[in-house]
Amino acid sequence: MTVRVRIAPSPTGFLHVGTARSALFNWLFARHHGGTFIVRIDDTDTERSEARFEEDILGSLRWLGLDWDEGVEVGGPHGTYRQSDRFERYRQVAQSLVESGAAYYDDRPAELLEELRTKAQKEGRHPGFYIRRLEEEADSGVIRMAVPADEAIEFHDVVRDDMRFEADSVDDFVILRSDGTPTYHLASTVDDVDYGITHVVRGEDLLSSTPKHILLARAMGADPAVYAHLPLLFGPDGKKLSKRHGDTSLRHYIDAGYLRDAIFNALALLGWSPGEDRTIFTVDEAIGAFDLDKVSKNPAIFDEDKLQWMNGEYLRAMPPAVFIEQAMPFLAAGLGHPPDEGQRATFERIAPLVQERTKVLTEVPSQVAFLYTDDLAIEEESWEKVMTADGVGAVLDVAAEKLDALEAFDHESVEQALRSMLEQLQIGARKGLQPVRVAVTGSTVSPPLFESIAVLGPDRTLERIRSARRRFD
Ligand code: GLU
Repeated sequence: MTVRVRIAPSPTGFLHVGTARSALFNWLFARHHGGTFIVRIDDTDTERSEARFEEDILGSLRWLGLDWDEGVEVGGPHGTYRQSDRFERYRQVAQSLVESGAAYYDDRPAELLEELRTKAQKEGRHPGFYIRRLEEEADSGVIRMAVPADEAIEFHDVVRDDMRFEADSVDDFVILRSDGTPTYHLASTVDDVDYGITHVVRGEDLLSSTPKHILLARAMGADPAVYAHLPLLFGPDGKKLSKRHGDTSLRHYIDAGYLRDAIFNALALLGWSPGEDRTIFTVDEAIGAFDLDKVSKNPAIFDEDKLQWMNGEYLRAMPPAVFIEQAMPFLAAGLGHPPDEGQRATFERIAPLVQERTKVLTEVPSQVAFLYTDDLAIEEESWEKVMTADGVGAVLDVAAEKLDALEAFDHESVEQALRSMLEQLQIGARKGLQPVRVAVTGSTVSPPLFESIAVLGPDRTLERIRSARRRFD
């Protein structure tokens, strides 16, 4: 089977997760069948199209690993793959459709102008009273498709099965505006026909456009592509995915420290699954298992919590050295500068503990911040919650005493010292260790305490416990 598929983003915003999902499904389908994946830019709306959005879209697709075989930047046999370079072609096609009788000039503005002129005359008004705005349009009417009035449009959608649109549900739609610019329907279909697109795989929001595109393709003398409309994306509340659900650009997730493999995996699950309830899989496994007829027509839920969970799974599965490399830019952002050798060594010691409990890399700096400051600020909330209880002063005194007596300051000896503090005071771990944690890390939430203290070292640990203790004097 020959497969030529495309993604056709409009550069009027950052790459939306829905478009990213469409791109991914097209790419998986092409790679599964050894076909061709094309990226074209739908920039007919020259006012709203911006270079920075195109840059973001192409950069995000590359970040996801979706390489393309033809299209913008990589080239191919069809020119620039940019609609703004093809207005002449669209006008030609519109003209030839008029000549063949499939489309017609709609001169209504001209007729209307005449009507209004007469009306103004009758009412004794100045001829310009009604008509000023219409005059410009009068010379050049729009071009509309002549949609057959009595013929339903039927097609088979790979995802949604047999589709039927009654003739009266499709009006004589505009294909060329009076200023000579093409509508989306014309530009998109001419490109799909010219580029030999075999399968149009896109979001269900475009389903109602498809009968128009089929009519256009037929009128151009081409076989329409096979269509597959992907299910809409919903938020976790069951409502259509929108800005209400938070940022819906892929850029947001890239910047937030999500891993490419996790995002790839999560996007692939938006309407498809490799079967057997599998939720974690590699890119190659997805390529091997993917096909369009396995795509579900039920709405797919895009849930940031699930994405976080999945990202955490990928982080934990990483070799520790890879985790450290991936975390470095985030550590640097937290420090405000690249870590020096000592700072990096400190991070390498704590990294295995951080790796276990991180869902997104942006959480790294706050987890380890206590290791990189000489002036620890204790969170007010943590102080209130833990340090105002009875007996905290004694906990800090005995903890300092036991830790001060240690010769080796490793994880095991620190644990022993603090357990003997608990024993001496006859208190449980919760009551005895949380005050130490707050004193040493500044928060009730931190990596495991004994290891954290071992990495922090005896001097800073004791200084912090004593400084917290002084707040009781
Ligand atoms: N430029 C259109 C969009 O971004 C392309 C739709 C299509 O795939 O035909 O929605």
